[in-house]
Amino acid sequence: MTTQIRTRFAPSPTGFLHIGGARTALFSWAFARRHGGQFILRVEDTDVARSTPEAVQAIIDGMKWLELDWDEGPFYQMQRMDRYKEVVAQMLASGAAYYCYTTPEELDALREAQRGRGEKPRYDGRWRPEAGKTLPTQPAGVKPVVRFRNPAEGSVHWVDLVKGRIEFANSELDDLIIARPDGTPTYNFCVVVDDWDMQITHVIRGDDHVNNTPRQINILRALGADVPQYAHLSMILGDDGQKLSKRHGAVSVMQYSDDGYLPDAVINYLARLGWSHGDDEVFSREQLTEWFDLDHITPSAAQFNTEKLNWLNAHYIKQTPDAVLAADAANRLAHRGVNPEQGPALETVIALYKDRIATLVELADAVEPVYLDIRPSDELLGQHMTETSKAALAELIEAFGNCEWSREAISAAIKAVMKNHGLKMPQVAIPLRVLLLGMTQTPAIDALVEVMGRELVTRRVRAYL
Ligand code: GLU
Repeated sequence: MTTQIRTRFAPSPTGFLHIGGARTALFSWAFARRHGGQFILRVEDTDVARSTPEAVQAIIDGMKWLELDWDEGPFYQMQRMDRYKEVVAQMLASGAAYYCYTTPEELDALREAQRGRGEKPRYDGRWRPEAGKTLPTQPAGVKPVVRFRNPAEGSVHWVDLVKGRIEFANSELDDLIIARPDGTPTYNFCVVVDDWDMQITHVIRGDDHVNNTPRQINILRALGADVPQYAHLSMILGDDGQKLSKRHGAVSVMQYSDDGYLPDAVINYLARLGWSHGDDEVFSREQLTEWFDLDHITPSAAQFNTEKLNWLNAHYIKQTPDAVLAADAANRLAHRGVNPEQGPALETVIALYKDRIATLVELADAVEPVYLDIRPSDELLGQHMTETSKAALAELIEAFGNCEWSREAISAAIKAVMKNHGLKMPQVAIPLRVLLLGMTQTPAIDALVEVMGRELVTRRVRAYL
């Protein structure tokens, strides 16, 4: 019987879903999808001081925007407290855990003494029951913590699916506190119980958790649980080679939505941040879920590359139907107080620009002047509106009044005016661009004129003749 693959994404809701978290979620999701397994969303919200409902929502919004659908959950650790307490009780009963009455003051004194002797500070096991050992007398009024009885001897190792074999000597691992004096379970313990209960087969997470893994494995073993496989992903560095942080701008996934990136482009981009399939750079979700494996994840840090993301985004924008892009642009323009309904059909304007931009924000920026009551700057007018160009444009507008409204006819009218006035193309096209959109560079002038329409073109040019 083959085991069903079960992965999970287990964010702590203390902020937005950031790029690193999204990549972890993507790899866990893709691995489950590849193997026809299950992907579970688990919210690790036990840090009540830092967890917020807004952050939970932000994570869910980010997952939905990226279309990383989960099969089970979201499970919330705060709703599973009874279960954790139950397991703590079982471990106390079996001897896998014990009460420790050492006070914080005693621990401080212990650590200070150890440091004074040049030793690494660690719990000395004074309340750890051993055969033939007499435990200290329970102090009155001290509420105990519960500690896991970590194996004293030997070592714990796992073969990390990204980093290879990793081994820790048990002598390096303290008897971890699994429940606080008020009975609340601690972070590593909740993770263990959840991975066990949720029958996770592959833990795919950031490598900031490597140091937790030996403790978690020891607790899983003490519980008689199957130990999952682990794949620890290296961190993501910013464009500048530094650890990715807020300094790098858009670190929240939803910021990428605001900034005009398509979810498919972000998914494609994130997949390549540390994983590869030969030389393939552009692939669909379907291909990703067909190809994704843990063998081709690089153990070295991945570096963020905005240029590459923009390149991919431009690619995905070109593939997107004009109507979809138009709906997005309409939304962005509405937020800027611009109403594209009073003007040329947005879809046709979009078609002029979609091959020339890298983000949906750039697309909205590009089409916006068509719908604004633009006023070319005095500088541009002074530079380009000469007596010659005015005469040529006056004749052109006449011709536009009578010609068939097609790109070919418009082009022919422009050429006729050039000929009549002995002008070169830019001498007509640039003044026309300045009057139409207040800028000297636009898509092909005949295509732009056609799309803007006779009425709008005539109005904008006449205003300056
Ligand atoms: N909650 C942890 C985090 O957000 C992840 C824990 C895990 O994946 O085991 O970093």
